Amino acid sequence: MYDYLVVGSGLYGAIFAHEAKAHGKSVLVIDKRPNIAGNIYTENIEGINVHKYGAHIFHTNNKKVWNYITQFAEFNRFTNSPVANYKGELYSLPFNMYTFNKMWGVVTPEEAAAKIEEQRKEITGEPKNLEEQAISLVGRDIYEKLIKGYTEKQWGRDCKDLPAFIIKRLPVRLTFDNNYFNALYQGIPIGGYTKMIANLLDGIEVRLNTDYLENKAALDALADKVVYTGPIDAYFDYKLGTLEYRSVRFENELLDKPSFQGNAAVNYTDRETPWTRIIEHKWFEFGKDENGNDLPKTIISREYSSEWKPGDEPYYPVNDAKNGALYAEYKKLAEAEPKVIFGGRLGEYKYYDMDQVIAAVLDRCEAELA
Ligand SMILES: Cc1cc2nc3c(=O)[nH]c(=O)nc-3n(C[C@H](O)[C@H](O)[C@H](O)COP(=O)(O)OP(=O)(O)OC[C@H]3O[C@@H](n4cnc5c(N)ncnc54)[C@H](O)[C@@H]3O)c2cc1C
Repeated sequence: MYDYLVVGSGLYGAIFAHEAKAHGKSVLVIDKRPNIAGNIYTENIEGINVHKYGAHIFHTNNKKVWNYITQFAEFNRFTNSPVANYKGELYSLPFNMYTFNKMWGVVTPEEAAAKIEEQRKEITGEPKNLEEQAISLVGRDIYEKLIKGYTEKQWGRDCKDLPAFIIKRLPVRLTFDNNYFNALYQGIPIGGYTKMIANLLDGIEVRLNTDYLENKAALDALADKVVYTGPIDAYFDYKLGTLEYRSVRFENELLDKPSFQGNAAVNYTDRETPWTRIIEHKWFEFGKDENGNDLPKTIISREYSSEWKPGDEPYYPVNDAKNGALYAEYKKLAEAEPKVIFGGRLGEYKYYDMDQVIAAVLDRCEAELA
């Protein structure tokens, strides 16, 4: 008999299991996938750690979280500086002085601010849709080249048909700063995320290819308590309805050349290119293998926005009133299950960055294991 059965070997499950073991509890971790690490799973192919469920960049302002996670991996100095490709013109992101210089030839922050101000004036009165909202924030040129096509591909609809509230702010930097995240700590675990999760799970029994919901009664009988990090609606057999997700489709390609785009992320901001962005995984680790040698090949992933339907991989929870209300009903059912802890991005139906998952599970551990 185990003290805890942890369903899911992602970041939430692995940290809970680690902490439970550290507190002298016995733990069994199961996962329905053939590998550990959940959505931060990285697979080493041709010496490159490929982020199989989408690019993951660790960033946080939370010192407690940073001090915790760096016990299990050394992080490199990767800084997210995406590039926008608009019909072959390349722009720095997020919008900053490099972007404005390329767009308008302006040189000083005053000139850039004046240009934006002049273009914003086009919209008078309350913006009626996303297009007007974006122009009222950054002006038409940036909207047309860097926002419109990308947003329309993401949502599958014209910006004129999208509500204004989707974009509340568009950060504009009047400095030469390409660092996408405003985070004190940022990086990629050297050797990949899977290794970091393996370190967390060191000495803990893990059973892969094991679906909890298919063997629920037998698995429940193995432990006093369950930590469930799968989808909350699936736990209750979708009896109140299905929670919706936004999806992404990845197309991976191995190329027999050392570099495809020279950067980890390039966003395609025109409407015609069908993918939203291309990730070139080797640049998360500066194009080197673990011994510091240059890698001769490269792997790219084209990302496409796609409609989600039940049965697809759940990626981003949909943050609207309908799904929020349905989740609230499921949460009530969850609270009536005293022996089950629901956690993580699927168990709590919440978009969590990795640092937020770590903070949440550490709080939960403090309450549960103290
Ligand atoms: C495309 C994408 C990109 C992202 N990029 C970033 C980023 O750059 N930076 C950042 O900080 N965060 C990023 N995130 C968020 C990050 O992925 C999450 O914070 C983190 O993975 C959540 O961990 P988790 O343990 O809650 O969930 P998961 O990693 O999803 O783990 C859940 C596990 O439970 C298992 N499971 C589910 N149901 C069952 C069952 N019935 N039986 C057995 N096992 C089951 C699953 O197989 C899975 O392994 C991104 C998310 C997405 C979707």
